Amino acid sequence: MAVPKMVYEWRLGIDDTDSLEGGCTTHFMFNILKEFKHKIKLVEYPLLIRLNPNIPWKTRGNGAVGIRFLANEEQAINIFEYVKEMLPPPSKKLKRNSGAILAKAEVLKKEIDSIVRKALTSVVGLNEVLKMIQKKELLYHAKGNKRGLIGALSVCGYEFLGDFTYELLLYRSPENYGTKRSVSLESIKKLEKRFSPQIFSSYDFETNTPLILPRGKDPVLLGIRSKNAELLKKAVKTLDILEPVEGGLIFKTNQATDDHFKRLSKKELGFNNVFYSTVKVSKKPERMIGGHVRVLVKDIKNEEDFWVVAYEPSKRFRDIVSKLIPEDLLWVGGGIRDEMFENRYTLNLERLIILRTVNEYKKINPDCPICGKKLTSKGKNQGFKCKKCGKSYPDAKPKLIPIKRQVMPGLYLPPLTAQRHLTKPLERFCEYNEIKNSDLRHEKKEVLSQDFFIDKSYFY
Ligand SMILES: [Zn+2]
Repeated sequence: MAVPKMVYEWRLGIDDTDSLEGGCTTHFMFNILKEFKHKIKLVEYPLLIRLNPNIPWKTRGNGAVGIRFLANEEQAINIFEYVKEMLPPPSKKLKRNSGAILAKAEVLKKEIDSIVRKALTSVVGLNEVLKMIQKKELLYHAKGNKRGLIGALSVCGYEFLGDFTYELLLYRSPENYGTKRSVSLESIKKLEKRFSPQIFSSYDFETNTPLILPRGKDPVLLGIRSKNAELLKKAVKTLDILEPVEGGLIFKTNQATDDHFKRLSKKELGFNNVFYSTVKVSKKPERMIGGHVRVLVKDIKNEEDFWVVAYEPSKRFRDIVSKLIPEDLLWVGGGIRDEMFENRYTLNLERLIILRTVNEYKKINPDCPICGKKLTSKGKNQGFKCKKCGKSYPDAKPKLIPIKRQVMPGLYLPPLTAQRHLTKPLERFCEYNEIKNSDLRHEKKEVLSQDFFIDKSYFY
């Protein structure tokens, strides 16, 4: 009699199979699951994990993908061999250095967590990852400079901290890659109106831009996002899709959760790091060439000065920043630019909370105590003079008239078109909190292929 083979929970992580000129890591996972969806048991939806958005060598979204499944050793190795074969060749020109890792869930412990946290908030060294792979004896495969292993390991070790969202991605027929995406704009507007905030960031009425259609040559036709995976499957059918669909996948993601801000352990200023802090405005904001706005702030804890920049494309958001005045109290969060300006770091602003505004005054000349006419200034610190009476008032001070501030305390985000994948959009702040205990616990329950995999027959 054959001895039943031991079944383990496995984690497979894959990164950097996309490139600047098309391809997409999520589509790679779609192809893997097309092949294996009936051969393995997933214990969670396929994962799409966004990492530090400020990494300069990232291709586009800095996202890595993974699956968690139950299988015996032979089945797991089988799928990994298939992944190895499918990994695209490295390309310097396309900045593509794919990597894949297979690990038993039980060997991924706390130590990996520190790498995951670092991958979300700063820069992980490849050596650190290679050492960990060696120490834990993980199966891996990497192309080119092996940088894909960083994301691959991060997905394997990733644990959700309560919040998460789903994204349903549909893929195009290969013959349409590079052409304009044919989805009716009217139907996208309707989707936004009907399902927001449960389904968020679908259409930006402020700039009249659909947000579900990516630009570029990649295979993704569209992506819709929600806390509710079931709703996504229903809602996608309300869209008027005017081109053939290859199929789709629903990913569980850390998108739209502010995950990068939550994972900060030490908040240190450093190139390419995620950073947030409570600060006071030190100087009046300056408008820069290109319409960007820069303001010098002081960290209220360590008194360190740094620049905060809001870029021109963020329009209204940038205008809010330009109306700040010295002593306003703020919470600022974003990524640190990889160059110093006037010996100070620069934070690319992603999220702004105005905590307290100070009064703003306008200086006007005082009135003449004798005739009541407005005095005229005799020059800086020279006092005032009445033209009518001819008398001088060397000690008179200008009058301070309070003026209405143009900004109010509150939370401010760039327009939806300029938001990062990880940024929690305003719509999600009013989302009914429906996190169940079972979502928080890592339950070994099976997720069926009909839950996460969308066959093209779904649309016809
Ligand atoms: Zn006078």
